[in-house]
Amino acid sequence: MRVVVIGAGLAGLTAACHLVGRGHEVTVLERETRPGGRARSITRDGFTFDLGPVVMTMPELVESALTAAGSSLADLPMRRLDPAYRGAFSDGSEILVRYGHDAMREEIREKSGAKDAANFDRFVAWLKELYDVEMGNYIDANYDSPLGLVSSPTAALTLLRLRALGKLGPAVRRYFDDTRLHRLFTFQALYAGLPPETALSLYAVITYMDSIEGVWFPDGGMGAIPAALERAAKGAGAEFRYGATVTGLTCRPGGAVAGVVAGDDVVPADAVVATPDLPIVYDQLLPDVAPPRAVRKGTYSPSAVVWHVGAKGSPAPGTEHHNIHFGDQWNESFDALMGSKTLQPDPSRLVTVPTQSEPGMAPEGHSTLYVLEPVPNLQGPVDWRHEAGPMRERLHGFLAPNGYPTEVVAEEFVTPLDWQAQGMAHGTPFALAHTFAQTGPFRPSNVERKVPGLVFAGSGTIPGVGVPMVLVSGKLAADRVDEYGRRR
Ligand SMILES: Cc1cc2nc3c(=O)[nH]c(=O)nc-3n(C[C@H](O)[C@H](O)[C@H](O)COP(=O)(O)OP(=O)(O)OC[C@H]3O[C@@H](n4cnc5c(N)ncnc54)[C@H](O)[C@@H]3O)c2cc1C
Repeated sequence: MRVVVIGAGLAGLTAACHLVGRGHEVTVLERETRPGGRARSITRDGFTFDLGPVVMTMPELVESALTAAGSSLADLPMRRLDPAYRGAFSDGSEILVRYGHDAMREEIREKSGAKDAANFDRFVAWLKELYDVEMGNYIDANYDSPLGLVSSPTAALTLLRLRALGKLGPAVRRYFDDTRLHRLFTFQALYAGLPPETALSLYAVITYMDSIEGVWFPDGGMGAIPAALERAAKGAGAEFRYGATVTGLTCRPGGAVAGVVAGDDVVPADAVVATPDLPIVYDQLLPDVAPPRAVRKGTYSPSAVVWHVGAKGSPAPGTEHHNIHFGDQWNESFDALMGSKTLQPDPSRLVTVPTQSEPGMAPEGHSTLYVLEPVPNLQGPVDWRHEAGPMRERLHGFLAPNGYPTEVVAEEFVTPLDWQAQGMAHGTPFALAHTFAQTGPFRPSNVERKVPGLVFAGSGTIPGVGVPMVLVSGKLAADRVDEYGRRR
């Protein structure tokens, strides 16, 4: 079939790799001048800034897309980061998230005591069981109805036995006494747009993916991932058109998709995979189709301010590639972000310093910093036209006391207004939060029944937000295209 993929972000690239590998004639239309979408990198004054994701997990999912298109992971050299994270706490203490079971158990024994170290074994066994049952049965799965949840009664019973529908905060407290470990092993719920205390234990799989399976960093930075996927898809015969903004769909009599409109061109298609943010797809490409309720009235994830800094000098000894500075007022911060939608009273921040692993990402004698503070999305009262300046000053003031260089020679400051300008609903790049009512069969489907042949991929649809999930979404979209092809 002729398949048009709208968008060359990670979801679109993965869909393209799987589709072209299955023999479809694939054209990718991307409005920007290069691939990557949220996961693209830019170079400024000799500094490489990764603009979106920096924590890469589950490389086997990229491998599956590369292999589908006849390439391999050898085309994407990367290293495992050990430690995956440095957790820095307000009392001045630190815990490293080490790669490898024995190394992490030893770190816990040293920092938190023998009891928590012994319980780490049970904790990992629980996480692994959760991951094994969720990945095959619920994450890497297309749904046609909520009954999909019980299509494997054994899997459903396993979830119940693992208390996966209980709350994450109390579940992790069952294993550890040290509150610092609670934070280190539950903050990942924020990746799913949820407060760690009340997120479902289901989302402990994210902790499994980063803290147990490990965090990776591609040579040259995160931009190497879309570049490798694009090379693979192109190598297998996919066509890429950049600077091509899709403004509409064309349909056959009866409603099935017939092509897309991009500028003066109509590109014919038997099926279309649309990957821009889902609310924007409905708003701009499907003005006559009512979006699913969750798209209209759903709970959207918090957003983030990211300050990309090219700085003269090096960070203090002990600084790692990923450094999480945990604020003290933990629950209050999540209440602010997701309740009153105001700034965190005592912010937790991620500082990624890729030059700790790859000095070539900055000129000699300089460092590249990525400073991320979670902030509310634009449904709240914060006015970024006034708040951006003070926020930059606060982040600058935070650098020196935490051992980071402060002489800024290049920078890029990104607020929720920028995410909104890039076409992300409510100014969040993290889409609908993963509440139970917005997960699995309850998340907006990746097919629109009123427009046969139109398939969605990306973080607004199944399985959800983050690099691993959108890579899976690209493959699930390819499966939907094949299903449609068989039915036509
Ligand atoms: C600051 C930040 C930090 C993050 N951190 C992490 C992390 O550490 N780990 C992790 O796993 N995930 C992280 N994420 C999430 C992850 O980056 C995203 O979930 C993922 O990259 C989204 O990919 P996508 O392909 O679905 O969407 P996108 O990357 O947005 O791709 C959509 C593409 O469609 C194009 N497009 C839009 N409209 C049109 C149109 N009309 N015509 C043609 N093309 C169009 C866009 O230009 C874009 O290239 C982060 C995201 C951000 C922004």
